[in-house]
Amino acid sequence: MTSNQRVVVIGGGLAGLRLAARLTGGAAVTVLGEEPHVPYNRVLLAEVLAGRYAPEVTALPAPGPALRRGVRAVRIDRADRTVRCDDGTVAEYDALVLATGSNAVLPPLRGLFEPEGRDLPDGVHAFRTMDDCLALSAAVRPGVRAVVIGGGLLGVSAARALAARGAVVVLAQQGERLMERQLDTEASALLAAHLTSLGVEIHTECRVRGLRTTGDSPAAPPRNPAPPAFEERGPGRSPGNGAAPGQRRVTGVELADGYRLDADLVVLACGVRPRVGLARAAGLDVRTGIVVDDHLRTSDPRIHAIGDCAEHAGQVYGLAGPALEQADALAAVLTGTPARYTGTRALTRLTLGGAETGSLDLAAFGETTPRPGDDVVRLADATRRTYRKVVVRDERLVGGVLLGELSTVGALARTWEGGESPHDLFHLLTDDGGH
Ligand SMILES: Cc1cc2nc3c(=O)[nH]c(=O)nc-3n(C[C@H](O)[C@H](O)[C@H](O)COP(=O)(O)OP(=O)(O)OC[C@H]3O[C@@H](n4cnc5c(N)ncnc54)[C@H](O)[C@@H]3O)c2cc1C
Repeated sequence: MTSNQRVVVIGGGLAGLRLAARLTGGAAVTVLGEEPHVPYNRVLLAEVLAGRYAPEVTALPAPGPALRRGVRAVRIDRADRTVRCDDGTVAEYDALVLATGSNAVLPPLRGLFEPEGRDLPDGVHAFRTMDDCLALSAAVRPGVRAVVIGGGLLGVSAARALAARGAVVVLAQQGERLMERQLDTEASALLAAHLTSLGVEIHTECRVRGLRTTGDSPAAPPRNPAPPAFEERGPGRSPGNGAAPGQRRVTGVELADGYRLDADLVVLACGVRPRVGLARAAGLDVRTGIVVDDHLRTSDPRIHAIGDCAEHAGQVYGLAGPALEQADALAAVLTGTPARYTGTRALTRLTLGGAETGSLDLAAFGETTPRPGDDVVRLADATRRTYRKVVVRDERLVGGVLLGELSTVGALARTWEGGESPHDLFHLLTDDGGH
C-alpha cells in the first residue's frame, strides 16, 4: 500500500479506531462512525452504568480529523469503489474496511413492538451503546424494579450495575445457569451466589414470553409484589410510571409459565448479531458474519472486515481481544508487512464489584467442561470463595476457569495460548506452589 492510497473504515469502534491508529503516517485514512459520541470502549459501559466511571473515562484515543463522527455509511458501490453516506457525501476508496460491530438481539417477545411499529416501549433498553447506557443510567434509581433478560456476560454485567445503583433487580435466564458459554456448573453457582449477595434475584430456566405495557388489559397478579420502597415513591409519578401521554411504557414481563414480574425497567441482554447488512447488500460472502480469510479479506479482495462483524474460520468472536488482534493483523497486511491472522485464543475476564460484599473477579478460557478422558484439576475454597479449575487433554491445557483468585491467570493463559504441555499443573494453578 502506498501513502496516497485511500483507506475507508466503516465503524469507529474498538477495531476500526485501532486500525486507524496503526495506519497513521501511511495511507489517507477516513473512519466513518455513525455514533455522535466521542469514541468509547463499550467494554467499560457496565462500569458507567454502575456509577463507578464517568462516561469520559471510556474514551478511546481518537484518530483526529480522520474520524467523521455522526456519519453512517448506507451503501457500498464496489464497481465505483465508493461508499455513500447518510449525509449525502461519497467516500472513494482503494481499500475498504468493514468494522461495523454487532447489534443487540431483540428477542421475539409479545408486546415488544406494536404492529408495524419500530419503537421499544419506554423503559425497555438494549445494552450495547453509550446511548443505551446513558438512557438506563438516567432511568435507574433506588427502588426501581428492573428485569434483566439474559444471563450471559452482558446480562450479568447489567444486573450487577443496576443493583449497585439501588435497583431491585431480577435476572431472567433461559438457560440452566449463568454465563453458560464460559463457565462450568460450579463456577456458575459461585457467580450466582455473588450476584444474590448483591441483591439480584436470579431465575434460571426461566423463559420470558412477553412484555406488559401501559394500556394492556389486566393480567394475572405479579410474582414479585412491589416492595415498600417502590410503593412509597414520591408524588408526581403517575400509575403509568411517568410515560408521556399516548406513549407505551413497560409495566412488567410475562413468563412462559404464566407468571408476571412487575418492572419499571427491562434490559434486553439476549446476545448480539454481527452487523452485516451493508456487506450483504454489496453482494459479499456473509454467513453469520462477513466471511474473511487469513488476510482479513472478504470475497472482494479490496474489502476487508474486522471485529465483531467478521467471521474467520467459521468463528465470530464478539470480544474485544480478537477485535484488536484482527485490527493489528490487518494494519500489517495493508502496509505490506507479511502477516496472517490465524485466530485468537480469547479469554473472558470480568470484575463484578460489590461495595459491601467485595468484588468477584472471574476469568475463563477454552473448554471449561471436560470430555471423557480429559484430566481435570480443581481447587475450591468455600471460605475464601475461590474456585480454580483447568482441563487437560493429551497433555495440553485446553481450558480453565478462575473465580475470586486470578493471580495465576497470566501464566495459565500463556500456557494455553502457546498450546504448551503444563509441567506442573498444581503449581500453575497456585501462585505459591501449593504451600
Ligand atoms: C456492555 C458491554 C460489555 C462488554 N464487555 C466485554 C468484556 O468484558 N470483554 C470483551 O472481550 N468484550 C466485551 N464486550 C464486547 C466488545 O465491546 C466488542 O467485542 C468490541 O467492542 C468489538 O469491537 P468492534 O469495533 O468490532 O465493534 P464496536 O465496538 O461495536 O464498533 C462498531 C462501530 O461501528 C459503527 N457502525 C456500524 N455500522 C455503521 C455504518 N454503517 N456507518 C458508520 N458506522 C457504523 C457502530 O455504531 C459502532 O460504533 C462488551 C460489549 C458490551 C456492549
